[in-house]
Amino acid sequence: MKITSNTVVSIDYIVTDENGQVLDTTNGQDAMEVLIGHSNIVPGLEDALMGKEKGDRVDVLVQPDRAYGIRHPELIQEIDINMFEGMELNVGDSFLADTDMGKKPIVVKEIKGNTVVVDGNHPLAGMTLKFLVDIIDVRQATDSEIEHGHVHGAHGCCHGHDHEDGHECCGKHHHDEDHECCGRHHHDHDDDDHECCCHHHDHE
Ligand code: ZN
Repeated sequence: MKITSNTVVSIDYIVTDENGQVLDTTNGQDAMEVLIGHSNIVPGLEDALMGKEKGDRVDVLVQPDRAYGIRHPELIQEIDINMFEGMELNVGDSFLADTDMGKKPIVVKEIKGNTVVVDGNHPLAGMTLKFLVDIIDVRQATDSEIEHGHVHGAHGCCHGHDHEDGHECCGKHHHDEDHECCGRHHHDHDDDDHECCCHHHDHE
């Protein structure tokens, strides 16, 4: 079966920057399952996977505009430390902040006296990424996967290989019994009060 929209592909992958430094990999973990055609992975990688099949290896260089976007200098801001109300802050900490575009992950870049420099850019924004992907399996997505826009694997939505950043909820209220989460790499901006099921299993 060839990869098209509305197939689910299982992949092992290594992502490096242009210099070959490994940024992320499934090495040593379960393969990652992705529903294709629903913006669950960066466009440049999705395009490269189209038409491939089980057993194929894809080696692709993806420019920033086809990966996590360019960096926006205006997303780097200086905030008075008092705004954090005594929270312990360390460089490299990340947390969700309320912004004009909903809750977005921001990272503490620098602490200068009473000023905290935070960066709301995706950590991989502005970077050219090299993906080496082995296609482990390809299957047709189920109707409910297509409806939800994400994979419902054996381990549920949040299976395997969590990223510590950018792992946001799907922004859709699922009122079915499974209460499934979106998984990853979600870019909706209308999720005001949704929590990811990885963190909050608050079934009604
Ligand atoms: Zn779902």
